[in-house]
Amino acid sequence: MEQLLSSFKSGYAAIIGLPNVGKSTLLNTLLNIKLSIVSSKPQTTRRRVLGILNKENYQVIFLDTPGILTPRYELQKRMMAQLQAALNDADLLILMVDVMNAHHPVHLNLEEINPQQKPVLLLFNKIDRIEKAGLLTLMDGYNRFYPFKAMIPISALNGDGVDEAEQEIIKLLPEHPPYYPPDVLSEHPERFFVAEFIREKIFEQYFEEIPYATEVVIEEFKERSRGKTYIRANILVERKSQKGIIIGKGGKALRDAGQEARQEIEALLGHPVFLDLQVKVQENWRKDRIKLNRLGY
Ligand code: GDP
Ligand code: MG
Repeated sequence: MEQLLSSFKSGYAAIIGLPNVGKSTLLNTLLNIKLSIVSSKPQTTRRRVLGILNKENYQVIFLDTPGILTPRYELQKRMMAQLQAALNDADLLILMVDVMNAHHPVHLNLEEINPQQKPVLLLFNKIDRIEKAGLLTLMDGYNRFYPFKAMIPISALNGDGVDEAEQEIIKLLPEHPPYYPPDVLSEHPERFFVAEFIREKIFEQYFEEIPYATEVVIEEFKERSRGKTYIRANILVERKSQKGIIIGKGGKALRDAGQEARQEIEALLGHPVFLDLQVKVQENWRKDRIKLNRLGY
């Protein structure tokens, strides 16, 4: 009994890397559930999404950090602060690089962002898109760059190498009793994921600056024992012209985005949903500290 208890491992792993390297995809593959939004456009993971992997002998709590960015807007500064917070909480760091876009290893200063020298695991992602010879050269370059605990080639998308990555993560976890009960998937309430799904549809459906000028706020979330769950969400934009684009001709664009978001929300909640989407203009929400605070950044 004593031995069983002491052999349990649990800890926090922060997934770091440039925008678009596949951090959210990895989290989704590891947890086998769609928690963090995935987008082909960079910088969509604004908040610290936390997913929990529960197995018989271990529990890994993943911090999906926003991409490492140069602060430009006030919003991006907040994202950097969240990145730092995630690193402080972490027992280990998982650095992800995209093999299609990783010829130069010195894109971030690991000594600077990891002064406590927590163990760093390096994952080369998207190996489904590169020849083996190129990969070996790349791994050699990174090997000289930093004393990584391990370097593992993976495809977060098709799952190749992900089990091996999981085993390496477990090796680096401290022995510790579980932090959360085993049935807890995430600390975030359901409404957080509902907002993320709506945001994901906006990223898929609109172009150029529109997705970046948009925020989603859940205003009402009423679960009814019978019938549909009623969810009312405001889509905030910065300018009136953006509102027109989001709504689209005869409201079609918004209806399409809403319908797709609703289907995903229903899959997550496991029951039918009435999704009421409204578009509101809130000038300069990205730059305005008070408004950012109200939105929970
Ligand atoms: P994040 O910004 O780091 O969270 O990156 P995402 O997880 O949102 O992924 C960015 C894009 O890369 C999406 O279009 C993913 O489908 C794609 N992607 C992620 N992992 C892989 C992979 O292993 N192989 C390929 N081919 N694409 C991937
Ligand atoms: Mg992401």
